[in-house]
Amino acid sequence: MNAHVLDGKAFAAKLRITIADHVAALQAGHGIVPGLAVVLVGEDPASQVYVRSKGKMTVEVGMRSFEHRLPDTTSEADLLALIAQLNADPAVHGILVQLPLPGHLNSDLVINSIDPAKDVDGFHISNVGLLGTGQKAMVPCTPLGCLMLLRDHHGSLAGKHAVVIGRSNIVGKPMAQLLLGDSCTVTIAHSRTADLPAMVRQADIVVAAVGRPQMVQGDWIKPGATVIDVGINRIAADDGGTRLVGDVDYDSCAAVAGAITPVPGGVGPMTIACLLANTVTACCRAGGLAEPEGLTV
Ligand code: NAD
Repeated sequence: MNAHVLDGKAFAAKLRITIADHVAALQAGHGIVPGLAVVLVGEDPASQVYVRSKGKMTVEVGMRSFEHRLPDTTSEADLLALIAQLNADPAVHGILVQLPLPGHLNSDLVINSIDPAKDVDGFHISNVGLLGTGQKAMVPCTPLGCLMLLRDHHGSLAGKHAVVIGRSNIVGKPMAQLLLGDSCTVTIAHSRTADLPAMVRQADIVVAAVGRPQMVQGDWIKPGATVIDVGINRIAADDGGTRLVGDVDYDSCAAVAGAITPVPGGVGPMTIACLLANTVTACCRAGGLAEPEGLTV
């Protein structure tokens, strides 16, 4: 295996130290403690795990965590009322509504009811528009983490051909916007792309955000390319249990790539760290303070 391993776990740990330093400085200099409110509706086990670890890491960096767990029978009116209350609460700088929501709730309506300045997931239509027009936005956490890893490894990304596989609003589209903002030539591939392997072979940077275990093969990768694997898929393991794999066939791709993110330990840890970073950014902006260094793009 030749590729340099992009260690997202280590990078995220360093980022959380930078975040904790900013939090301490905000408290010492301005008497402000950034606060993150997480709203979970229903009992989805994966969502419960995510919400727990978000709350834990929020407290670990010195911020306030407000958890709101609502039953899956919650009405849209009650959820909107809670969001209005959080929008108005000066102790809350970031609001995250854990997705997916139960089917009777309109996710678009709910997300767009969050104050865009507190929308630390970056999914509000105002933030999507700001990002798309190159203005100061709240940037979705997973693509933000990918961009940080790419910049750290490459320095400038200008002129590189990036192929993003996947066109979701959560990962693929904002990832493409960020890479465009860094002057990459960007191709967005998706389920209807003709000859995906040939498309990927042209890429200096491949970002796979598909949700298909180990789909991207080593012979799709241009020698020396950088491969960012966003996928998180659970598959059967040889020992009868399960294991996590990405959207990239790690061993065959690592043999050809110049750099690659592992799963687990690559993009995943960056996502929560970037959520904390966005909360500090939202807090600084709310207070009319300078952008926190190292936390924004
Ligand atoms: P999604 O299902 O919303 O989108 C998947 C995209 O992949 C679609 O745009 C679709 O067109 C494309 N696609 C599907 N089949 C394809 C194929 N055969 N060839 C090419 N493209 C194809 O998924 P998402 O929310 O963007 O998530 C993608 C993956 O990333 C999932 O595995 C998810 O678990 C993971 N994820 C990880 C993190 C993290 O923190 N690491 C965060 C979000 C999502």
